[in-house]
Order: sequence, then structure tokens, then C-alpha cells
Amino acid sequence: MKMMRSLLSLTLFVLFCCMAWAGVSVAATISISSPGSVANGEAFVARISSASSFDVARFGWKQKQYAVPAIKVQEGGAPRWVASILLPVSLDEKPGKLTLTGRVNDAAVKSVSRTIQVTSKKRPVQNLKVENKYVEPPKEVLDRIKRDRAAVKVVLGKYTSTSHWRLPLVKPVPGSVSSLFGVKRVFNGKPRSEHKGLDLRGATGQPIKAMAGGIVRLSDSLYYGGNSVYIDHGLGFVSAYMHMSSIGVKDGQRVSAGEVIGKVGATGRVTGPHLHLSTYAQGVAVDPEALLSLASGK
Ligand SMILES: [Zn+2]
Repeated sequence: MKMMRSLLSLTLFVLFCCMAWAGVSVAATISISSPGSVANGEAFVARISSASSFDVARFGWKQKQYAVPAIKVQEGGAPRWVASILLPVSLDEKPGKLTLTGRVNDAAVKSVSRTIQVTSKKRPVQNLKVENKYVEPPKEVLDRIKRDRAAVKVVLGKYTSTSHWRLPLVKPVPGSVSSLFGVKRVFNGKPRSEHKGLDLRGATGQPIKAMAGGIVRLSDSLYYGGNSVYIDHGLGFVSAYMHMSSIGVKDGQRVSAGEVIGKVGATGRVTGPHLHLSTYAQGVAVDPEALLSLASGK
């Protein structure tokens, strides 16, 4: 009887070991997904998922690493652990192949990778006429421009590991596009940097909505941007709204997706009232229109 009992214990022990081993091998399986090709100046969603739990996924892109906490979702009636991030292909990236890598710190560390083809998008040239002080800024405002740039740099350099964004994003104003992202611009006959945002038509006083939930990191009057608001949506995604007639939020304020953050105006370097919308992934300016067209949940 005693022998029978110990034999049963041994069988159970072996069975337990087999199950544990099977569990470990499942835990080691992770998958990575992204689009197969991305145009220069656009961001894309990279996703690591597994049927077994993991805490943090690490994405590798353009010599940088990004840590993203996993969330548990239900897919086809079964739980799945997913980590998603927006990664950029900058405007000046040349066509070619880039490698995206992912790994999770698991019992058995497994890494995965994908090749992404960078394509080149044609960007037109746009001629604009503005007050000359915005083309050749007077000496007395140079310090202010420097301060503005430094403040924006701090916001764009911040990486918070809490995610507040969700796809699809909210279009801040209903108006149509008046100037595309990435166009080469000539102000009063002088070539200046590319347009690092999307201009949307709107009348002065029209409410502007936040593209996603987040934390206001900067709400100030900037020389070029006029009344501007920068929102940190977490995991390196930031949106900025410029030329407002009035700002409706304060630094540090938590906003939700679709919340009104200010009103359309014509402050700063403008030719008339409109909303200039900029979006940044990991500090790199990316096309807001392409982001707005990302439809699926993250
Ligand atoms: Zn603009």
C-alpha cells in the first residue's frame, strides 16, 4: 500500500514536471507584428504578443530600446498578453530595409525580429506669404525662440511608460486638410524647413479636441506656434496643437480623448486661422494624417 502511494506520488510528480516544462515552452513563444512597409515621415504600430503572461516587452528600433508594459486582452475567447508602441520612420530616412526587434524577459528569453521596408513618399513644395518677422525673426526674439525650442525638446525627450492612447485617434477638428505634413515650404520666397505637421481648416473659436488621453506637458504662447498645447499620451507618443486663439488647459492636467483643450485661432506664424497639428513618436515628427487613419485597436 505504501509502495503504491509513493508510486502514485512519483507519477504525479513526473506529470507535474511535464506540465511545467510544457508551460515554459509556451511562455517562450512570442510574436511580433508590424506593417511590412512604412513611408518616410510616418509612424507605425509595433506589437509583441504571447499566449503566456509577460510583464514588459522591449522593442529595438533604430539603435534605441523601448520598454512597454504588457496588457492582458481577450482574443478569440482566450487571454493574451500584448505590448504595443508607435515607432517612427523620420522624414529624412532613405528607402531601404530596417530591422525591428522585440524581446521579453521570460524564464527562457526569446527574441523576435522583423524587416520593414522603408518607402519614399513624394512631398510637394508650398509657397507661403507671412509677416516678415516670422521669416527673419528680429534679434530681440531670438532668445525667446531658443527658450521655446528648449521647452519643446524637454517634452519630446520624455518617455513615460504609462499608455494613455488608444486607436482610433480622435480628429481634433472636423475641417479638411489645408497643408500636408512634410511639404517643403518657402516663406516669402525663402526656403525653410519642411512642414512638421498637418494644417486643418477651422474658424476662430472652434473647439479643439485632444487626439487621445494624456497629460498636458506644455501650454504656452510660443513665437512660431502661437498659443500651443503639447500632450504626452505615454510610450513616447506626443501630440501638439498650435495657433490657438485660447488655451483651455494647464501644464500637468490630465485630459481624456476628445476633451476640448482650446480654440482655433491665428496666433504665431500663420496666414489665417487654422489648427496646426503635430504628432511625434519617440521624439520624431510623424504625419498626423497617417496616424488618424490607423483604425484598429492597439
Ligand atoms: Zn502648419
